[in-house]
Amino acid sequence: MTLTWDAAKKPRAALEIRKLEVPNDMDDAHVDGLTARIGTVRSDWTLAQVEALFDLPFNDLLYYAQGVHRSHFDPNAVQMSTLLSIKTGGCPEDCAYCPQSVRFQTGVDAEPLMALEDVLEKARIAQSHGATRFCMGAAYRGPKQSQLEQIAAMIRGVRALGLETCATLGLLTQDQAEQLADAGLDYYNHNLDTSREYYARIIHTRSYDDRLETLRHVRAAGMKVCCGGIVGMGETRHDRAGFLHTLATLPVHPESVPINQLVRVAGTPLAEGCASKPMSVFSWPVGAWNLVNHGPAPTTRIALP
Ligand code: SF4
Repeated sequence: MTLTWDAAKKPRAALEIRKLEVPNDMDDAHVDGLTARIGTVRSDWTLAQVEALFDLPFNDLLYYAQGVHRSHFDPNAVQMSTLLSIKTGGCPEDCAYCPQSVRFQTGVDAEPLMALEDVLEKARIAQSHGATRFCMGAAYRGPKQSQLEQIAAMIRGVRALGLETCATLGLLTQDQAEQLADAGLDYYNHNLDTSREYYARIIHTRSYDDRLETLRHVRAAGMKVCCGGIVGMGETRHDRAGFLHTLATLPVHPESVPINQLVRVAGTPLAEGCASKPMSVFSWPVGAWNLVNHGPAPTTRIALP
């Protein structure tokens, strides 16, 4: 079971955001739109503008991200979400970071879809620990109809407990998205992971456009979108900007944008470097610092208020 934290959506009175002081060496293309419209929800970001955010001095970046955050969210509130793997391992896809792919020898044993009552018991435990959103993840390319019907029952059961529901089940058709929405699914998670250019070096079995199509189906079915990425896979800052630019130019921004730090797992193609090192109490703070210091977390807050 994994715990994730999201900012609670309780807007407060907006703090005044100081006029952005753009470094002297930025050209007009960078400046345009940054100074006047920072803090507004917009889908017309240019890639140059997103890259300009990454170019800001670190403390300025934090300052503006905090201002945007406070103008849209209760600054000191977090929402606790719990993620449960309801079907583990044996996935036919080849995502290079993932220990659940059947293509990599990672020691993860495939487990079938959990029983309804077992899932509901985990949801009750999560709720008793303070979670208000419960996410169910299954290692599929996409769900089959019989699996979808079982998962729909889980969604109904979790929702009956009073929890927000989220699921991540891979690619969806429009019909499948509508079945999940009918069952009461609040959020569907489907990550883009990285930029369109770098994506092809990480995943070969499903395309960037496949993923965007699933996001369109989710949106058309009326569900909220959870869509994020992973940093630390060897991507450049340009890739990180490209990834954020894709999300920030969707017609409607995702309601949740998880920015994850890669956890290298032995046996995966991205294991090289520290594959044999177990996660230690020291590795998480380093990863968390990487999310902030190299820009993706605060830049995401500005581009996707
Ligand atoms: S689709 Fe999901 S479960 Fe399957 S390999 Fe990719 S990340 Fe892992």
